Amino acid sequence: MLAPALLVQAQGTPPATPLTLITRDGRRPVPTTLLSGQELIALDDVATLFQVSVMEDSLTGGVTVSYRGRTIVASAEQPMASVNGRVTPLPSPIVRSGRRWLVPVEFLPRALGPIYDQRIDLRRASRMLIVGDLTVPRVTARFDTVGPPTRATIDISPAAPVTITTDQGRIILRVEADALDFALPGAGNGLIEQIRPGDQPNTVTVLLAGTAGAGRAAATTADNITRVAIDVPAAAGAVDDTAAAPPPAPAPPGAEGLALTPRRAFQTVVIDPGHGGDDVGVRGEGGTEEKQVTLDVARRLRQRIETRLGLRVILTRDEDRASALDERAATANNSKADLFISLHANGALAPGVAGAEVFHLRLDSEGEVARRDAAAEALTLPVLGGGRRTIEVVRWDLAQAAHVDASAVFAGLLEEELRRRVPMSPRPVQQASMRVLTGAAMPAALVEMAYLTNPAQAAQAQKDDFKNAVAEALYDAIVRFRSYAEERQAR
Ligand SMILES: [Zn+2]
Repeated sequence: MLAPALLVQAQGTPPATPLTLITRDGRRPVPTTLLSGQELIALDDVATLFQVSVMEDSLTGGVTVSYRGRTIVASAEQPMASVNGRVTPLPSPIVRSGRRWLVPVEFLPRALGPIYDQRIDLRRASRMLIVGDLTVPRVTARFDTVGPPTRATIDISPAAPVTITTDQGRIILRVEADALDFALPGAGNGLIEQIRPGDQPNTVTVLLAGTAGAGRAAATTADNITRVAIDVPAAAGAVDDTAAAPPPAPAPPGAEGLALTPRRAFQTVVIDPGHGGDDVGVRGEGGTEEKQVTLDVARRLRQRIETRLGLRVILTRDEDRASALDERAATANNSKADLFISLHANGALAPGVAGAEVFHLRLDSEGEVARRDAAAEALTLPVLGGGRRTIEVVRWDLAQAAHVDASAVFAGLLEEELRRRVPMSPRPVQQASMRVLTGAAMPAALVEMAYLTNPAQAAQAQKDDFKNAVAEALYDAIVRFRSYAEERQAR
């Protein structure tokens, strides 16, 4: 027999980290393949893992997947599947590779999920595939003050009871959960050497520096988030030493905290509230204006990112003024942003059309070439005073080319998080050529939050509940994307 696995390897590459399947019974890695930026899983493996049967349909060039009398029909022609007769979008069509069929990993939650007995939750950034009714809260952490005392905050979302144990040199949080979905900073700060996953799947270890005293931690719960505040003073001896020691030399300007805080992969987020000034955008029922909704949600999102993550946030406009699309991307590029998110609300002729949509850039053929060349595109120039420096040369209209894969991941995360909280369009993630994304030299996506031409959605878009739900979803997607980006940089 031919070795079909060889064909798969010839066409795709395995991701750096395998997907981890988490069930009541434990964890196991699940092999996947990356093919043109899309992560795929072999249908054979799906059949084994989920006890489904797979039948090839040579007439339609597709497959039928059955589970307890319920069926999914998918073809290689269209990025969608029919799930018990209901059309469900997929990020790409299923692919035949040798003798095997590969399906996008999103097939599991989107197509298999609705007909399966147990919940299937795919968390791409943390590489988790959670099957069953498991509690897997997300754990994020930030440093509030370097100190001493060094203060940090660990958020557990959704809220879960936490038991705190402190012993010499460590603080251990035991969360009442089946597993934890970590998005932790890579490095420590001040008297905290590191915040890292603990020895058990449901524990977090806060490792203290040798010069730290006894750390304290206290948990509070509000808004369905359990927040653990950590306070680490210097050891008693260490405090006496500093009292006797000469004052430290002043740090060079701009170098504050450099020694303590290594450059993180992720520091700046640019939020682009669509439209503004004379450009109202879509005008909806009851006078709802797109330009107002986008600015309002942008401010709510900024507030969340600044207070919870401590990242720098820049708005392309923070008032009601017009701004050209290229100017918006330029703001992001000039501020060396790590992520760009453009906010819009949609309009359609038919008032029934509703739901949120996420867009990322589709490259034309010229863009595809630029993407392949992106790594090689650098120019070495002589520098005044001697030496040479290498600068990246990226044509303005192709700036996004090097980031399309990361942007696709970000768009997927946005869709996952929005789906938890707001109505989604039947085409929740789309690729399109969009000027505001083309010029952004960083991962970028555009969100259409709702259709303002739909009377119910226009009314919703005026309400705090809806705007907070969108801001919260975008925030969670950004937290997850940050851990994805930092992990990618660490490799
Ligand atoms: Zn718009």
